[in-house]
Amino acid sequence: MSGRYSRQELFPGIGRAGQERIRAARVLVVGCGALGSSLAEMMVRAGVGGLTVVDRDYVEPSNLQRQSLFEEEDAARGLPKAAAAEARLRRLNSEVEVRGIVADVCAENAEEMVRGAQVVLDGTDNFETRFLLNDVCLRAGVPWVYGACVGAYGLALLVRPGHSPCLRCVLERLPDPGSGPTCDTAGVVAPIVHVIAGVQAGEALKVLAGQIGALLPGIVAVDLWAGTFEVTDLRGRAPWCPACTAGQYDYASRESTSGSAVLCGREAVQLRPRAGGTVDLPALAARLRESGEVLANEYLVRFRGSDAELVVFGDGRAIVKGVKDTAQARTLYAKYVGS
Ligand SMILES: [Zn+2]
Repeated sequence: MSGRYSRQELFPGIGRAGQERIRAARVLVVGCGALGSSLAEMMVRAGVGGLTVVDRDYVEPSNLQRQSLFEEEDAARGLPKAAAAEARLRRLNSEVEVRGIVADVCAENAEEMVRGAQVVLDGTDNFETRFLLNDVCLRAGVPWVYGACVGAYGLALLVRPGHSPCLRCVLERLPDPGSGPTCDTAGVVAPIVHVIAGVQAGEALKVLAGQIGALLPGIVAVDLWAGTFEVTDLRGRAPWCPACTAGQYDYASRESTSGSAVLCGREAVQLRPRAGGTVDLPALAARLRESGEVLANEYLVRFRGSDAELVVFGDGRAIVKGVKDTAQARTLYAKYVGS
């Protein structure tokens, strides 16, 4: 066998039949930072039929240490991660229908994104989005694989709606913001990202290939510095949370509340516009050039002034840097973009 996927087909866990199933599958990767980069690359190289990657952020130099799809040029151009990822993934495998979506996944758009996917992979960095995904995937009956990393430690869990406990079953409720360490406070090293993404992608390939008997029995916890790899067996536990047992999808039904979020990985706040408006990016760029340094591309305008650094996307969404609270971010947004 010398075909593109021959080594994957030789592996008995997948085989020819498994590869055909993988080829027919559509996969959604939510969040394209470190985990998302690694996940999307593995899925595309494995030859899935279609891969959609959605991300709300743009590439910065501090991402390059671990976010393997991106290059210095992407950071210099300030490209959205979803756009840079789409271009790179297409170069990796032209046989895959790759789509990059520059957007923030929220209650209003999550269902549409999940629709048609055979598996959803978590490359996000926050529990707000994960609890939303958990609800949306349960409702749609689509398996999803949770993943998280901080420091040299990471967790992974496959959720199969109706068959295994979901994230809410395991954690009971959405953790309070600031209650756990984040890559903001504890940093993160690249090797754990690839280990956790590897576990997630492995479970995804099993699901896609129909190898249900080979799935891991529960939560995988890895600490690369301590050298531990633990699997907590959840097979004896039936799904019990209100979403699993009563179809009560609390996190999918609440509207995007504050419209803002403090982003992981740096001092930055995201502001979401209230309705589906658009911004005239060239006009905004021209206006802001009078007050500071501007970098503009077809997706966004990045502005550096004496008191602010912010990035505005075409839908009016903005990321304001160097601020710690949303009030400060809103003030700067109103000053430079308008309210
Ligand atoms: Zn549940």
